[in-house]
Amino acid sequence: MTRMSAPRSAAGPLDEPLSYGVYTGVACELESSATVPSAARLGLEPPRYCGRCGRRMIVQVRPDGWHARCSRHGAIDSTELEQR
Ligand SMILES: [Zn+2]
Repeated sequence: MTRMSAPRSAAGPLDEPLSYGVYTGVACELESSATVPSAARLGLEPPRYCGRCGRRMIVQVRPDGWHARCSRHGAIDSTELEQR
């Protein structure tokens, strides 16, 4: 499994402003309630959709976290969230 060593400069799948619900893939404009989950919730439940484009992401769940990848916006790992 590859992990980016350099700080992410470009916008990633979960970088704000998010346009889509990461669990639903529904555009935030169309969805009324809580589309953007907290980092704490993300730590427990992996996102399924890219928050930037709404594409379904490739998600790998590990015992200690998860890794999600959008074909357009790159990958994010749950360990990156914990570092913030
Ligand atoms: Zn994306």
